Amino acid sequence: MHNAALAAVGLDDWRYLRLPLPPERFAETVRALPAAGFRGINVTIPHKEAALALADAVSHTAGAVGAANTLTFDPDGTVHADNTDVGGLLATLPRDPAGATALVLGAGGAARAAVYALRTAGAAEVLVWNRTRKRAERLAAALGGRVVDAAPRVDILVNCTAVGLQEADQPFKSLPLPADTVGVGSCVVDMVYRPGGTRFLAEAKQRGATVVDGLEILVAQGAASFARWTDRTAPLEVMRRAVADAATR
Ligand code: NAP
Repeated sequence: MHNAALAAVGLDDWRYLRLPLPPERFAETVRALPAAGFRGINVTIPHKEAALALADAVSHTAGAVGAANTLTFDPDGTVHADNTDVGGLLATLPRDPAGATALVLGAGGAARAAVYALRTAGAAEVLVWNRTRKRAERLAAALGGRVVDAAPRVDILVNCTAVGLQEADQPFKSLPLPADTVGVGSCVVDMVYRPGGTRFLAEAKQRGATVVDGLEILVAQGAASFARWTDRTAPLEVMRRAVADAATR
């Protein structure tokens, strides 16, 4: 996705590389990257909190969420941390969350970004459910939202758990989602993605909901990171196509 975007805007000598790192090597390796010619990195599990901790400058969003997925390096080595998962989710929502009721499933990094995004966008109420209730309580204490044990009908439902990823999963049975939780008029987002879409989204669509695929959010958060590193507008359509191609390969 990023290499296609770099080529499309004429940054022919830039490359986006995979860089697997064990946690014990994370900080020292990242600190060495600016001098090695890197402009920035995306950070994923399990490094998002460590990325925030080592940054010299932290965006308001990354600080509030407590995790960074994007680091940008100044030529002098200064490290800026940001969280583009928040903007990525908001950019793809087909409706304005202002005044809406929302339910976030999960309490990991993606759920933290989702709760923060929905609350700052003015959702009337953000409910949080997680398999491990204690984690949901910690999330709600830090970011707001109300912990629930079962799901009422809501306007916006965001899945941030891995449930519904596997073909054999029955998400609406394994999660506390009564039959009428979603339907016509509701918007269902799956942060999780897989080629062909998840079972979770397929079922939500069958029930009449408007759905947002995690791949769209992947593209949107990637586009925001791309803009920070390159100071160019991301070629969204090119990135979308690259992701779709990779998903079918
Ligand atoms: P994480 O921090 O590891 O959290 C995982 C969450 O899933 C926890 O709430 C966990 O509950 C729950 N969970 C796992 N297995 C479950 C099961 N069988 N039943 C019920 N709940 C279960 O992961 P994360 O960073 O939040 O990421 C979550 C997903 O979002 C990943 O698949 C990731 O790829 C995706 N994601 C996508 C984007 C995007 O751009 N589309 C961005 C960020 C993340 P417990 O607390 O009980 O363990």
